[in-house]
Amino acid sequence: MSRDPTLPEHRRLVLDSIRDYLGQLAEEGLEGLPAPTPARADAKRTASAASPLAVDGATTRAAATSPPRPAPAPVELLSRYPGLEKTATLEELSAFIGDCKRCKLAPLRTHLVFGVGNPNADLMFVGEAPGADEDARGEPFVGRAGQLLTDIIERGMGLSRADVYICNVIKCRPPDNRNPEPDEVAACEPFLMRQIDLVRPRAIVALGSFAVQALLKVKTPISRLRGNWQEVRGVKLMPTFHPAYLLRSPGEKRLVWQDIQEVMKVLGLEIPARGSAR
Ligand code: URA
Repeated sequence: MSRDPTLPEHRRLVLDSIRDYLGQLAEEGLEGLPAPTPARADAKRTASAASPLAVDGATTRAAATSPPRPAPAPVELLSRYPGLEKTATLEELSAFIGDCKRCKLAPLRTHLVFGVGNPNADLMFVGEAPGADEDARGEPFVGRAGQLLTDIIERGMGLSRADVYICNVIKCRPPDNRNPEPDEVAACEPFLMRQIDLVRPRAIVALGSFAVQALLKVKTPISRLRGNWQEVRGVKLMPTFHPAYLLRSPGEKRLVWQDIQEVMKVLGLEIPARGSAR
């Protein structure tokens, strides 16, 4: 956020809070809100490389070295479901979840959307909840927002969707795409924790305020958290905006590209040079 040095500190703090709050509302889908001011947008235009989210970009290659995987996390958060901690693979976890009836979303779903991708992925993306397309297909991020996420992974990072692991905080679609409710999150959370433990990625990208706040157990607005490394279950977590928000606010894509570049650095992926063709 850009700071106007001519404002007294207390007015600046109030304005910062209002901007953060509006940003969060916008990310949650409230329409008709003012766009970020030019001054603020200019201040954020700091990425050193060309954004593949905004322009056709360049190829990306995995570098030879990357940091070690995190140690396994403690089991406390799994204790809601005895035996969950004994699941040793994603297949076993999926079987453990089974034809889940543990929350009120169960009778409303077409498919439980468990997650897809490489069970040994270095990188995991966590979204909010399945939407209509995902519910129909049983796969996360396959609608319009999913296409943008796929572009970020494939055109931006030079990886394939099958290289990474993709899942959501909750596994069943909330009606009318409403936000998941606390009891639904509580019912599903141990499964997400176990997914993280079993994949043990080197980094997680949490997509959007809901996923970030659910994973980190905070209420801090995404506009404040994004771009700053956090940690969950011993794994580095990068909060960033949700692709659905980027569809509504394409001007924010370059911020996501900044966040993704931080992730690429941690994974030892080569970041494309500015302006190179993709
Ligand atoms: N939005 C999400 O958060 N998850 C999906 O799987 C699709 C859209």
